[in-house]
Amino acid sequence: MRHDMDLYAGSFEAVRSGLKTIEMRLNDEKRQKIRVDDLVFFHSSKNEYDVIHCKVKELYHYKDFYEAYDRHGKTELGYKEDETADPSDMYAYYSKEKIERYGVLLIRIEKIDDIYLCDGHVHLEHGPLNKEYALRFIEEGIRKGLDEVDILDHSHRFIEFKGCYEHLRRYREQDVWLNKPTKFQNSLDEYYELIEEMRKMDLPIRVKFGLEVCYSSNTEAMLRQILKDVKADFLTGAIHSIDSILYDMPFSDKLLWDVWDSDEIYRRYYEEVSCLIRSGLFDRLAHPDQLKLFGIYPSYDMNETYDRIAKELTEAGMFAENNSGIHYRYGHEDIGISDEMLKSFRRNGVHMVCASDAHKPEDVGTDIHEVTMRNREI
Ligand SMILES: [Zn+2]
Ligand SMILES: [Zn+2]
Repeated sequence: MRHDMDLYAGSFEAVRSGLKTIEMRLNDEKRQKIRVDDLVFFHSSKNEYDVIHCKVKELYHYKDFYEAYDRHGKTELGYKEDETADPSDMYAYYSKEKIERYGVLLIRIEKIDDIYLCDGHVHLEHGPLNKEYALRFIEEGIRKGLDEVDILDHSHRFIEFKGCYEHLRRYREQDVWLNKPTKFQNSLDEYYELIEEMRKMDLPIRVKFGLEVCYSSNTEAMLRQILKDVKADFLTGAIHSIDSILYDMPFSDKLLWDVWDSDEIYRRYYEEVSCLIRSGLFDRLAHPDQLKLFGIYPSYDMNETYDRIAKELTEAGMFAENNSGIHYRYGHEDIGISDEMLKSFRRNGVHMVCASDAHKPEDVGTDIHEVTMRNREI
């Protein structure tokens, strides 16, 4: 069995350095399920995708933290040499009443590694909204050795968002695209039912449910109204159109790329990205340099733009995706975001989440290992 636990930065670094080898918790119903040889995944409270994999080596039960502190050295509990180990420190996390009721559990852990493989962006779009279909994506994630699969569908699957797409209908090709049977085929309630059903399952990897919302500044007010009631683990904002023209479609050449100057396209795209970030509506920014998908670039240097976006992301506390979708789906040479963008994001402390943009179960996890390693190396 695996257990996901959050750790404050100081304790997290102490586990990473190998000094802290014991984690202390209340022995409540949730922790009573922990067994020797189980896996514990510690997520940094600063960045949930900074994770250390550990194995449970031994379990100790005590009546309270005073008893526990008597039996164990302060370094293994996570204190520094020059710090005083005081059992009352634990009252910051657990009340006296709860400690009395449950007792405490100390978990001796052994660090395995800190490579967390998450595919933060997979779509059920081309299949039914049911458990059987969703499980095919999760099974593929398990087969590829992932720790987490995040399911999200486009807002254009859900009837509630229909009004947010009306502005695209001014072009006949886009109107035809919006009339396809996969568009607006479900309600959000149907999605919530699936989420609830899957949450009851004991899955060996972490699974989260979100939405990929098509953002444009001219529909922000409408989106704000809809999103305030949405119940999902996370919301990913995506720019798929520039001034009501979709940029990633077979017909986008005719409507956009052959008509507009590429500098203008890039300038408008990143203006919209800034609006998306500043809207405060989203937890994550989808595929931040997807505009390069056809290999068309602006004539000007992008570094200033990347730094601006990076600063806005950190200020907003948002994650940026490193999305490999256009590499294997469109044949672009970059596996994920460009080196320049990645360097800028790293330089500015942007938190990253890896993503494949899989639209089929077999594509889950594609290039995730490689993208994860790139995030770490740059
Ligand atoms: Zn997208
Ligand atoms: Zn997507």
